[in-house]
Amino acid sequence: MHVTKPEVGLGKCQYRRDMTDSDLQHLRSAIALSRRSRERGNQPFGALLIGPDGQMLLEAENTVVTGPDCTGHAVTNLMRLASRQFTSDFLAGCSLYASTEPCPMCGGAIFWGGVGRVVFALSERAFYQLVGPVRDGLRVGCRDVFAHGQRAIEVHGPALEDEALAVHRGFWGQPT
Ligand SMILES: [Zn+2]
Repeated sequence: MHVTKPEVGLGKCQYRRDMTDSDLQHLRSAIALSRRSRERGNQPFGALLIGPDGQMLLEAENTVVTGPDCTGHAVTNLMRLASRQFTSDFLAGCSLYASTEPCPMCGGAIFWGGVGRVVFALSERAFYQLVGPVRDGLRVGCRDVFAHGQRAIEVHGPALEDEALAVHRGFWGQPT
């Protein structure tokens, strides 16, 4: 009997801590979007897409409360917009900035859309340290999702965690 070797991912998605000044600037913009999302009644997450030449292309907020749509995460909303406008070849040269590390659903959207580089502020681990005592979650970081993919995605983070975390404080019903 012929046994097919199971398909395996690249298994080597590492988080890099190196950031440029423009990376930090774009992360601060993503954090500002997360604040605006909260002010508009949604969960405090924001994301934006920067093109190969450093041009600002798209931005998105979380919409799960005002939507209502459980898939209305900021990064998934961004990827919906991105894949309607751009080819995966173009997106391979783009960077996606997220105020919080993308969840498995958002990581999947990034993967299927073909974005080549992800930069996030608050880590999945630090986020769940804040909200963990009072909420369940899908506790998988995007690195673990990308490690199973057949295409490498460069991931940078965390950075500016205090600034990103400040927007979440008091939102999730956790003790302050
Ligand atoms: Zn998500």
